[in-house]
Amino acid sequence: MAELSDRMKALVQPYLAGIEPYDPNFAPTRINLSANENTYPLPPGVREAVDAALAATPLNRYPDPMSNDLRDELAAWHGVARENICVGNGGDELLYNFLMAFGGRGRTLLNCPPCFSEYAFFASLVETEVRDVWRDPATFELDEAAVLAAAPSCDLAIVTSPNNPTGDLAPLAFIDALCDACPGMVMVDEAYGEFAGEGATALGLLKKHPNLVILHTLSKAFGDAGIRCGYVIAAPDVIDVFAAVRQIYSVNVLTQAAALACVRARDAYAPTVAQIVEERGRVQRELAALGAQGLPVETWPSSGNFVLVRTPAASHVRERLRDEYSILVRDFSYAPGLSGCLRITVGTPQENDETLAAFAALVKEEM
Ligand SMILES: *Cc1c(COP(=O)(O)O)cnc(C)c1O
Repeated sequence: MAELSDRMKALVQPYLAGIEPYDPNFAPTRINLSANENTYPLPPGVREAVDAALAATPLNRYPDPMSNDLRDELAAWHGVARENICVGNGGDELLYNFLMAFGGRGRTLLNCPPCFSEYAFFASLVETEVRDVWRDPATFELDEAAVLAAAPSCDLAIVTSPNNPTGDLAPLAFIDALCDACPGMVMVDEAYGEFAGEGATALGLLKKHPNLVILHTLSKAFGDAGIRCGYVIAAPDVIDVFAAVRQIYSVNVLTQAAALACVRARDAYAPTVAQIVEERGRVQRELAALGAQGLPVETWPSSGNFVLVRTPAASHVRERLRDEYSILVRDFSYAPGLSGCLRITVGTPQENDETLAAFAALVKEEM
């Protein structure tokens, strides 16, 4: 990755001198299973509803800062009040706001890697220490006892459920105990919650724990990564903090209109989500079958719309998938704790067929 120029290193705040400009490593490919987007077409009628909503939206007026129409629809869906929801420009904006408001110099974030790398990145932007409690290196399960032991001396915590990129769920009894053990805010990132089934969400713990924040996004199950819309659910006084620190117009009128149309049509997404879950099972079984045939392939159960797979020549396999097959998957083999790991988004049956066949062929060739 690139670094800052010497001139900029001297001009930015000293603690930012080591920062690296983001390189998404994007290559246009025929099949892109690298970013956990939803690759299925929108459910019937949804695109038309979005287009009609966009066409009816004036562009000359500032947005409603709080996205209240969207908030009301999200509140009705989740069975909470408008006051329990803050909408942001993608989940990422809300993650940054969370770290900015509740972290900061002299504070410590409890983090459970391998997980979403943005947490540590945003922590670094706001000078927040990170206390890493690593997952089990073989199973990627949370080290619950170690997390709970560290929590009292941390100021805030983030747990991802299902976790990206390992796919596992955080048990609700553990989240319950973590909210008790941590003196500050606890965020449960449920960006992939729709793929995990009804019983997985920590939403039911909200009444008991006023320090709990649940993060959601429309980027994954709703297939709306391009519009940038996420939201948090929390106690009203927590929502007041998010509302106070955010850029007031970060969620533009077109995003609000499109998101509202999609959330109104939420029931229409059920068949797509069910198909992705079914395909996830098939991809996992086929990858496991490669391992059973004696190929160097290991995989883990996933509750998200992606599967993590380990094979010794991972980086090379990923490059050849891209260059010879025009299939893009995410390489995590450089990341601590994830040597040899690739993350493959679950796509359409056709995309999965092609990816599985190409992956199997390359793993054999690279042996
Ligand atoms: C994708 C993702 C998000 C949020 O993504 P946005 O596109 O910014 O809404 C948050 N957490 C995890 C773990 C994710 O994978």
